[in-house]
Amino acid sequence: AQQRYASIRDKTATTLDGITISLQMNAGLMADLPSLENSGAEGVGLFRTELQFLVRNQMPKRSELSALYSRVMDAAQGKRVVFRTLDIGSDKVLPYMTPEDEPNPALGWRAIRVGLDKPGVMRMQLQALLRGANGRPLAVMFPFVAQYEEYTRAAEELEKAKERERILGHPLPERIEIGAMLETPSLGFAPQKFFEEVGFLSIGGNDLKQFFFAADRENERVRRRYDTLNISFLSFLEGIVNRCNTTKTPLSFCGEDAGRPIEALCLAAMGLRTLSMRPASIGPVKSLIRRTNLTQLRQIIVDSRERGDQSVRPAVMEFLRKNGG
Ligand code: PEP
Ligand code: MG
Repeated sequence: AQQRYASIRDKTATTLDGITISLQMNAGLMADLPSLENSGAEGVGLFRTELQFLVRNQMPKRSELSALYSRVMDAAQGKRVVFRTLDIGSDKVLPYMTPEDEPNPALGWRAIRVGLDKPGVMRMQLQALLRGANGRPLAVMFPFVAQYEEYTRAAEELEKAKERERILGHPLPERIEIGAMLETPSLGFAPQKFFEEVGFLSIGGNDLKQFFFAADRENERVRRRYDTLNISFLSFLEGIVNRCNTTKTPLSFCGEDAGRPIEALCLAAMGLRTLSMRPASIGPVKSLIRRTNLTQLRQIIVDSRERGDQSVRPAVMEFLRKNGG
């Protein structure tokens, strides 16, 4: 399938009306890195670090992790890689940790909540990231941040880890970007100060959508019930884009919807300019973006919203059909 898109691999994802969208890839294994070259992705917008923890029967050592992070950065050859710290709990249970008996694990003790309450593992991972960078620029992103204070506490942990590395005489990254995933609706309403302070934000649409509609992402019965192109959801996303524009906070979207061409196009129409997706989606998404006039598409969405449509999908599909998409 990648071959079909080979001719546009080195071209930008620029719409007919001249708006360029940065397409990045999601990864989680060393084996994913060759796709960075093959897919034409501009960088790794989301590196899910939990896989290294999940595939073992004991906690990985810091030295193993820093070696891996270093190899990932080597393979990226200077392209930016956003490392997301451990996102466990909910559907991802570590075999060597006693599972918590929680009635609603998706709403439970997971991700940054574990990282802040039991900081040992997070500290070890932050140290491994700093050491793996070995002086190179580093981008770290904290998952499942639901309120401002969780971000500041996690960022403080990174500062402390930096200080430890400095005292030990290890080289520090020439630049550190600290970001958060926006995957709970609450963070979209965080105070302006949070948006000013956070280094960047990435919308985790999989979780954000499940919490927005109160519809379990693992439950087939309710999952498909609510369209990503539902106007309430798109309007919420647009609000986040506007807030980020006000504070000049770099924003991306890294949920699975970024890799679905029509969804990706609508995200771009709502103002998103960076999308991170599975590598195989880059070609199809880029191809559709390059054939679309985003200003016209945006108008179609605005009209659909004014008519009171539940989802903009029918209107968008009709527009694309007419335009030979
Ligand atoms: C998301 O929630 O959209 C996301 C990218 O994170 P994950 O799918 O790993 O929960
Ligand atoms: Mg998530």
